[in-house]
Amino acid sequence: MTPDETGSPGRDDPDGCALCDAMATSPDAHIRSIFSPAEYPSEVLLETQRFCVLPDLAPIAVGHVLIVPRIHLRALATLSPGMTEELEELRNDVTRILVEKLGGRVTLFEHGVCSGVSACGIDHAHLHLVPLPDTCRLTVDPTFPAEEISSIRSVIEIAPRQDYLLLSDRNRTHVYYPATATSQYFRRLISEELGRDHWHWSDRLILGDRHALRRELQAVRRIFDRR
Ligand SMILES: [Zn+2]
Ligand SMILES: [Zn+2]
Repeated sequence: MTPDETGSPGRDDPDGCALCDAMATSPDAHIRSIFSPAEYPSEVLLETQRFCVLPDLAPIAVGHVLIVPRIHLRALATLSPGMTEELEELRNDVTRILVEKLGGRVTLFEHGVCSGVSACGIDHAHLHLVPLPDTCRLTVDPTFPAEEISSIRSVIEIAPRQDYLLLSDRNRTHVYYPATATSQYFRRLISEELGRDHWHWSDRLILGDRHALRRELQAVRRIFDRR
C-alpha cells in the first residue's frame, strides 16, 4: 500500500461516518430510517476493489449516485495514482449504465474538503454522478477562480491543501476555488436548473415527499440490479 492508501494525508476518524456505515451495511446506516433490511438489503449498488457505488440518499435527480473510496479520506485529491485509475474506469462504467437506462448525460461533481469543515455535510470523499437531460445548462459562478484539468484522474495533480469544487460536465473538467465556503454549491445549482425544491440533503430527507424519495431510491437500485 502507498502512504495515500493507508490514509495519509487527509484521513480523519471514520467513527460515525455515514458513508463508512453505508459501505459496511451497518444497522446504523442512514438508509435504515427509510427502508427495512428486507426492502433494501444494502446500499452498495456496485463495487470494485477500492470503491463502492452508493445511492445518494437525498437524490437531486433519478439515478443520482456516489462513488466512494472504501478508505475514509477527505478528498479525491488525496487519492493515490492507482486509485484514480480505478476511479476513472468505474466512473465510465457507471456513466454508461446510467445513460443506457435514463438517456441524457451524466454530470460529476465533488466538494473537495482539504481543510476546515465539510461543505457537503460529510467528510468522507465522494464523487457525485447526476444524470441530467441534455437541455440542462450548468453555469458556475464566473467569479470563482478556476482551472481546467484533463480528467477526473488529474484531480490528484492539484495541491490538496485548499478546499475546491470539481465539476465534470460535457467532457470538460474544471476545478474551482471559491474564496468563501459554498455549502452544497452544486446540489443547489443543479436543483435550481431542474426546478427541484429541496436541494439541501437534510431538507430532502426531512421535508421532502417520503414516498417520492422511496420510489427514487428503489428505481436506482433496479437500474444497477438489472444492468
Ligand atoms: Zn467514512
Ligand atoms: Zn456530497
